[in-house]
Parts: sequence; C-alpha cells; structure tokens
Amino acid sequence: MSASETAASSSATPKQLPHHKVKVKAPGQRACNEKDEKGKPCGGHLKRWFYTTDLVERQCGDVEQAWGKDAEVYRCEHCKTLYLPNAEDPSGLNVAGPGRVSVFGLTLPPKAT
Ligand SMILES: [Zn+2]
Repeated sequence: MSASETAASSSATPKQLPHHKVKVKAPGQRACNEKDEKGKPCGGHLKRWFYTTDLVERQCGDVEQAWGKDAEVYRCEHCKTLYLPNAEDPSGLNVAGPGRVSVFGLTLPPKAT
C-alpha cells in the first residue's frame, strides 16, 4: 500500500453535474481554458452565473440541487462550462490577503471534560 495522498485532487476535479461540465477556476482566471476537439482553448469570458434566475437552468435545476440557491458559480459565456471559485481566489471581501483561516475550523465541537 502506498502512502495516503491527502486531498491531492479534491479541487482539481470537482463533482460533475448531470447536465453541466464543472471545473475549478484558477486564482484570477477570467477566461475559459476549456479545449475543443481540435485542442484550441475556448477563451470565452467567465461571468458570474445566477442560475436561480436562469430560465433554462430552472428546467433541470441540478445546480441548485448540488450547491444550494446562492453558490458562487461562474459560467463561460461561450461553451457554458461552469467554474467554481478557487479556494485561494479572494472573493471580494478580503482583497488585502485571504489568510489561511479554515472554514472547517470555525465551529469546534464542545469538549467533554
Ligand atoms: Zn468556454
């Protein structure tokens, strides 16, 4: 048995949705890097996608089922690939520096003593 590779690929390949291709945005990435059949990068702009007001998405609704009503999602305006924000990409609030606060460490279980 080899050593455990802890979470090495958790952000590289996000869970795919039934009707959408899902990728993770690189920090600062603004253009789609999805390649077509000829290997040419798409280059479409990534725009914040508000899927709860998207009439087409309302028909299938798999995004809302997977991520809830107000997840931060970007979509390529050209090939419609979805992009999730990278954990290292500061999303507006603390542009001075994201720091290393773990979102999982905010609620500590009470210690039984
Ligand atoms: Zn694209």
